[in-house]
Amino acid sequence: MSARNILVINCGSSSIKFALVNEARTSFSLQGLAERLGSPEAILHWQLGEDKQTRKMPDANHQAALAFILPLAQEVAGGTLDGIGHRVVHGGENFTSASLVDERVLEGIRSSAQLAPLHNPANLIGIEAAMKLFPGLPQVTVFDTAFHQSMPEYAYRYAVPEYLYKEHGVRRYGFHGTSHRYVSQRAAEMTELPVKDSCWLSAHLGNGSSTCAIVNGESRDTSMGLTPLEGLVMGTRSGDVDPNLHSHLARTLGWNLEQIDNMLNRESGLKGLSGLSNDMRTLSEARAAGHAGATLAFDVFCYRLAKSLAGMACALPRLDGLIFTGGIGENSAAARSRTLQFLGLLHLRIDEEANARCVFGVAGEIQSKDSPRILVIPTNEERQIALDTLALLDT
Ligand code: ADP
Repeated sequence: MSARNILVINCGSSSIKFALVNEARTSFSLQGLAERLGSPEAILHWQLGEDKQTRKMPDANHQAALAFILPLAQEVAGGTLDGIGHRVVHGGENFTSASLVDERVLEGIRSSAQLAPLHNPANLIGIEAAMKLFPGLPQVTVFDTAFHQSMPEYAYRYAVPEYLYKEHGVRRYGFHGTSHRYVSQRAAEMTELPVKDSCWLSAHLGNGSSTCAIVNGESRDTSMGLTPLEGLVMGTRSGDVDPNLHSHLARTLGWNLEQIDNMLNRESGLKGLSGLSNDMRTLSEARAAGHAGATLAFDVFCYRLAKSLAGMACALPRLDGLIFTGGIGENSAAARSRTLQFLGLLHLRIDEEANARCVFGVAGEIQSKDSPRILVIPTNEERQIALDTLALLDT
């Protein structure tokens, strides 16, 4: 049988990211982004090998963009697509793994929408549009939260009254599960350890960032919670703050919920601390040039990351390795090095030459002698979604 092709779709409220994954190839045959959907500036960018193309689609909505993307993917796949894999942000407690789309699954995504009001409705639009356009094609949903459903209750409960959990779903869910799962499986392959007998700390560091403790292929704890705001310092998100900050700002500055939400999600993190940028590349350059705000933002980011990893270590019976991934984890040797300066107590020590080599997609081990393994592993959420889709088609 020839290698199968899965189209992976990630729908945002005004965008669609897509990639065509062939099971036999590591690079994508086709990838692209439709953005500003629903506006006169709606535009589609896609890349076929080295060839980049753009098409203006004024006022196109998700359905119109998919009506163009799906036949394009079908053509690139040589006439047949074998399935579509959809990224869905929040599966609540309804989903512990990928699922073939049916009415029950759609209802489960709808019922989790209150937990991810910006993301789940957009994900649903993508699934429903794809189902209309290609009714005969198997569609699979892969949830960011599903991997973390294996956390023990003492890790996922907040210390708030029980009815808030039982009646309103207030608990820690965690996100980035597809990425943490992918890199921990790759780490096991690279080190020739069985996934089912391996223990990892993982740091996914992109615009959103989280840490995860993974034991024998299962998530045991993670730094994000009810929403992706909890935990680490991120591009524009604050991560953990004193929960009383909300009432303090309301009392002292008269801020309403929307203002507080906006500040914590869009004006904080690296951007808020540096006063310069949410982008680690820009901050690294500014730091090298002596910019005080960039230096502070970098230090807070790395210290808080180290503190989170040390906390996650409580969930592990032993440590087979620490994994760095995501745009910052894969590329910023400086951020890895600074973070490791705070983790001496875990005996983690970096080899700076190896650290400098592992950038721009190069995977490898970067620990010095006598240190537990430290690995840099490029993540590939699209490939993991395609693999999950294929696995379900095989059942
Ligand atoms: P997203 O969460 O949107 O998928 P990415 O995983 O692509 O984001 O990560 C984006 C982050 O990675 C940005 O802060 C960017 O500056 C950072 N990054 C990418 N390349 C480098 C680099 N060479 N050095 C430092 N940071 C980098």
